[in-house]
Amino acid sequence: MAVTQANPQLNFEIKPSAFSKQSQFLNYIDGQWVPAKSGKTFESRNPAEPSDLVGVFPACGPEDVNAAVAAAKKAYERWRLYPAPKRGEILFKAGQILVERKEQLAREMTREMGKVLAEARGDVQEVIDMTFYAAGEGRRMFGQTVPSELQNKFAMSVRVPLGVVGLITPWNFPMAIPSWKLMPALICGNTCVLKPASDTPLLSHRLVEILEEAGLPKGVVNVVYGSGREVGEPLMAHKDVSLISFTGSTDIGRRVNEACAPTFKRVSLEMGGKNAIIIMDDANLDLAVDGVLWGAFGTSGQRCTAASRVIVHQAVHAQVRDKLKKRIGELKLGYGLNPEVKVGPVVNEAAMKKILEYIEIGKSEGAELIAGGARDTQAGSGWFVQPTLFDNVKSTMRIAQEEIFGPVTALIPVGSFAEAIEVANGIAFGLSTAIYTKNVNQAFTALRDLDSGLCYVNAPTIGAEVHLPFGGTKDTGNGHRDAGTTALDVFSEWKSLYVDYSDKLQRAQIDD
Ligand code: NAP
Repeated sequence: MAVTQANPQLNFEIKPSAFSKQSQFLNYIDGQWVPAKSGKTFESRNPAEPSDLVGVFPACGPEDVNAAVAAAKKAYERWRLYPAPKRGEILFKAGQILVERKEQLAREMTREMGKVLAEARGDVQEVIDMTFYAAGEGRRMFGQTVPSELQNKFAMSVRVPLGVVGLITPWNFPMAIPSWKLMPALICGNTCVLKPASDTPLLSHRLVEILEEAGLPKGVVNVVYGSGREVGEPLMAHKDVSLISFTGSTDIGRRVNEACAPTFKRVSLEMGGKNAIIIMDDANLDLAVDGVLWGAFGTSGQRCTAASRVIVHQAVHAQVRDKLKKRIGELKLGYGLNPEVKVGPVVNEAAMKKILEYIEIGKSEGAELIAGGARDTQAGSGWFVQPTLFDNVKSTMRIAQEEIFGPVTALIPVGSFAEAIEVANGIAFGLSTAIYTKNVNQAFTALRDLDSGLCYVNAPTIGAEVHLPFGGTKDTGNGHRDAGTTALDVFSEWKSLYVDYSDKLQRAQIDD
């Protein structure tokens, strides 16, 4: 669907020809592009300009899930025997295609999800990084050789795949998060059924097109579009699915955990956050303010690692508030393909309403509104919320405890380092925290005592790299980690192997 040229907000290099003319998309099952068995469809629309239809996708149900799992199960028997370095060669090729298409993919992402183009490029770069990283694991995937307690006996451990894995992903990193799951799953030798978020199906579609082009055998990856209830639930209940890897909200993650229990599936959960930046009285305040702007308002605050709390030492509180207020006023909202725009829309109307409700909750709780606080209709016809700053927030207030997932952050003044750590940890989530300080003792104490899976010193709460573990504590996760070599732990089982070449019965723990 063409983007209208009449709206001056959209009049920059977004000619209809800038995007693919294809508007009907299909599932990918057993190497075939197929519609939903019911024939039903749903639409994906541009959140900056909802009249712009990005695409029409199949609205699937249990019968489509069954077909995808059956295809993955069949393909598994060959894929698990395909040497891991050869699997890696396919991923390397996919990575090269991704590099060539980076700009086009990023522009499509901005159109479908709303994040500004620079960030969309970053999302695609993360896919590239993860694809090459996982491809390299094809020649590593180290196991262990250890001495046996008996003579003439060899002992080692190797990783083996799980089988068919179900991958359920959110919309905020439309390509990066599917890649964080697909690439490690594939290199380990699993076959996959992916259920992408209904708000951003296009970028999963593109990723799978690229894997097909790179030579992935049919049935190894399957994509089924549709709602959590109609596609996610049957995938989680399916007896032939060995693992569900889920990234999304804590509420749905809890449901995933319950749904997978009866069939003893492995469950990897990456869920919500309520991340804090601590600014100490000795911090470089301009650097800290840069970090807050990026951490709180990047991706319009729709990152699991977004800095939605700023815990500030009272000695620098007024300075930080005034600097933030000024800089927030300079942020330009609009369609993310406009290079001047720093903050895009939020993902859909329901998300916008939820964020605006939280702003009302903040006001009613007595927090002081310093900047923003409303929908921005000047930025375009889409779902724009002004970057919003609350001051004098108490750590017990709902806006300081609950995930808002929008461009809203809360200044919480504290009197000491110890209080800052206590407030930072005083929430249900444990994904990411950051501290700005020049005091090395304070920095290392914070790294030790902050209860979160990610900690930063003199950098904001966002900025993870693909070769380190990613995930959180408390209600953010269930002990697994995406990315890094820890992703291999999610997508493989350990198998211990013993070879006795003594030619006699040797009894462990009994014979000398
Ligand atoms: P969400 O509503 O929990 O949805 C996540 C995925 O689950 C979507 O594909 C959704 O499908 C699906 N789903 C919904 N109901 C389901 C059900 N009953 N059974 C199975 N699947 C179901 O989350 P979101 O709004 O997409 O994403 C935002 C959340 O993700 C935030 O809480 C954010 O913090 C979190 N997140 C966490 C991380 C991390 O690594 N910790 C990273 C990114 C995002 P539909 O789209 O069809 O509803």
